[in-house]
Amino acid sequence: MIKARMAALNTHPSFGDYQEFVQAVYGASNLRNFSVDDMVANITRFSMRGLKGIRKNDAEKIKMNLVIALSWFMSLMNQFDINIGDSVWQRFPYLCSYCGECPCACKTKKVQKRLKIKVNDKRRPKTINGFQQMFNDLYPAKGRTLEHAGIHLAEEVGELSEAILMFRGQHSPEIFEQFKLEASDLISCIMGVFNSAGIDYEKTLVQMFSVGCHECHKTPCACEYNHVVNYKS
Ligand SMILES: [Zn+2]
Ligand SMILES: [Zn+2]
Repeated sequence: MIKARMAALNTHPSFGDYQEFVQAVYGASNLRNFSVDDMVANITRFSMRGLKGIRKNDAEKIKMNLVIALSWFMSLMNQFDINIGDSVWQRFPYLCSYCGECPCACKTKKVQKRLKIKVNDKRRPKTINGFQQMFNDLYPAKGRTLEHAGIHLAEEVGELSEAILMFRGQHSPEIFEQFKLEASDLISCIMGVFNSAGIDYEKTLVQMFSVGCHECHKTPCACEYNHVVNYKS
């Protein structure tokens, strides 16, 4: 368990470790200040700034903004009680979720329908870095441009918003499952951008969150609302 007074990420965190960390640091502030819609707005806001980094050819801007987008994303996952590591693994069990191969062979196989794939839990990566590596094995960076990875990310941000809109209208278990798939696809696309841009996500996370919040360095975060919503990055 994370000690409330000094939450820090360990050297090789799993997605579960990171979700716990985000809960300890930002859980209280989120409850008080931010609705689900606000969180989605922040995921979109920082993802799009990350895309601006692609357009401006600014790796630091891509990295900072996508790491912050993912921090909001983890808050959203906590809000819905989704274990994102489990969801990502079910969607991408070291095999492409569509053609069932590693590396993905969708382009050459012309798969018409998503295949049922068998999951071998022994292959599940233990760390965030392991997942980033897995996504590079599945969807090698050399198979696309950084701009293409960015466009795919923008699509997935839109699909995540849509899934939440649907779920909050109907509250059905089927749509909740769809929402988890979209959340997993978003992780896949952000990892795709990191791989295309040569960014080490886990290393960046550990540096940025060595002591509590990356801005105020407190647990729980003590940043003022105005600071958060006017944040320049
Ligand atoms: Zn494929
Ligand atoms: Zn803070």
